[in-house]
Amino acid sequence: MLLEFHGLLAALPDGVYVNPYKLLGMTAMFSLWALYAQWVDKDTIRVNTFRILWNLITLSLGAVTLATLLLVPDFLIGALIYGLANLVLGIVYVVHRNGLVPDEDKVCTPQHFQRLMKEGFRSKKGGPKKEVKERVRVTGAGKKVVQIPEDDVEREHYRLMQDLLFDALWRRAQTVEVAPSGQAARVAYQVDGLPVDRDPFERADADAVITYFKKIAGLNVEEKRKPQVGKLMVAVGENKMDLVVRTDGSTAGEKLHLRFISFEKSLKVKDLGFTSEQEAQLTDLMHNRGKGLVLLSAPAASGLTTLVYSFARSHDAFLMNIQMLEYRRDLDIENITQNLFVPADDKTFSGELQKMLRTDPDIILVPEVRDKQTAVMCCEAANHKQKVYAGLNAASTSDAIGKWMRVVGDNATVSKALAAVLNGRLIRKLCSECKQAYRPDAATLKKMNMPADKIFYRPPEPQVDKHGNPIICQNCQGSGYFGRVGVYEVLIVDDALRAVLRAARSITEIEAQIAKSGSAGLQTAALQKVYDGTTSIQEVLRATRTPERPAPPAPPAAVKAG
Ligand SMILES: [Zn+2]
Repeated sequence: MLLEFHGLLAALPDGVYVNPYKLLGMTAMFSLWALYAQWVDKDTIRVNTFRILWNLITLSLGAVTLATLLLVPDFLIGALIYGLANLVLGIVYVVHRNGLVPDEDKVCTPQHFQRLMKEGFRSKKGGPKKEVKERVRVTGAGKKVVQIPEDDVEREHYRLMQDLLFDALWRRAQTVEVAPSGQAARVAYQVDGLPVDRDPFERADADAVITYFKKIAGLNVEEKRKPQVGKLMVAVGENKMDLVVRTDGSTAGEKLHLRFISFEKSLKVKDLGFTSEQEAQLTDLMHNRGKGLVLLSAPAASGLTTLVYSFARSHDAFLMNIQMLEYRRDLDIENITQNLFVPADDKTFSGELQKMLRTDPDIILVPEVRDKQTAVMCCEAANHKQKVYAGLNAASTSDAIGKWMRVVGDNATVSKALAAVLNGRLIRKLCSECKQAYRPDAATLKKMNMPADKIFYRPPEPQVDKHGNPIICQNCQGSGYFGRVGVYEVLIVDDALRAVLRAARSITEIEAQIAKSGSAGLQTAALQKVYDGTTSIQEVLRATRTPERPAPPAPPAAVKAG
């Protein structure tokens, strides 16, 4: 920078006399300004404000006032303008940044000067740098491993990121959410599908860690309102995972959502937890039958996306033209065309589906159907020649059929197209390290039609060591459960059910026919997992409880007619 300065001096017109004292004064003023500009650049990151904007303002004013200093004939007036203008901007910046941080982080306050004197003294004695370690290897945008930063401020942000990732991985969180609220930020995990709250972050730390995640995921750090999605790779030892990073503005501030993706990247239908009988039914459905609509359903946040994606992976993508149309995408599926719907004034979801159908696919998958046109189009394609998998949130197979009928609006169309209906959810598996065997009472076994000597399993009673401290299982962190498995109801639509569907006036008639067909319900499939020791009876009751809410009378909100 000083070189530039000398360059500027050299560029002065001939005959301009430069007094060496003035030169010294200018150099001193400019050096002060350069230090200040550097501090502003770093400080905008620290307090998480608009970095590019503030740098632009600082540099522009610096350049204009420097020109004034050089060109105004009276050096003192030039110096006065230079000093004052930059000082005023400095004060404006300090007032702005002090408004963003808690009291102890404000600068140019009496407390700050006191602290500086104390810390300045300490640092002369050589205060140790806070140790920062890489516990989770993070590969960011551009496939570069994120290194421990040299800069103190960035090191601190790196440490916050490492602590959050390591803790989340240790607790086996599938998702992490950091949501600001006032001076703090809530940190919540999902472990085996259940929410777990963690100690909240201070607001400044939350903002810093969110900005840091955005930076390493290659997102636009300045954009704090619009939703953004990026991807990282994280690894602890040999255990590697993808990490989807989402940010989104809200009135309370910017939110961060992280989702770890490991084994679900490769799940197929056979990996999901279907009973052998159901697996045989599904193999027949997938590979021996041609056209038809398969309705895949689960309650919200109960594994619907995994279910739809697993069907996509279970067909041969080399022999068939498989196409998917979706509202959002977290995972890539090899060799399958995943069309992402991006809303625009001249685009509708059903319009995009129509375009997709013109490419004559063998199989189409729509993980989330939201509007009538799309639903009708799915039925028509299934009646014409395609195999169609459509996803929908529902509590049971009959609930799924009811909702689908309301969306489509015509029973005959539904009844003709429907080949099968699935409903599922995820239940937690007992931790193999600490599960406890017990003998249920005879009456329970009798009710379940089980032999009297049958052993069940459940999470252990809380245990304490001889000092009275709780003993916590290191495998499951004391929850008693480790991982999840799906349980499903598979309903193959036969001629009898088809006839009932065509004429049905109420869900009760459909339910009666499903019961008559002898299709094993969800509870039966779930109890199977109790008998074989995979899960507990309590977990099955929790997971298969039908949510207490009336079915909505109208079809799900249409995104746009078209
Ligand atoms: Zn355990």
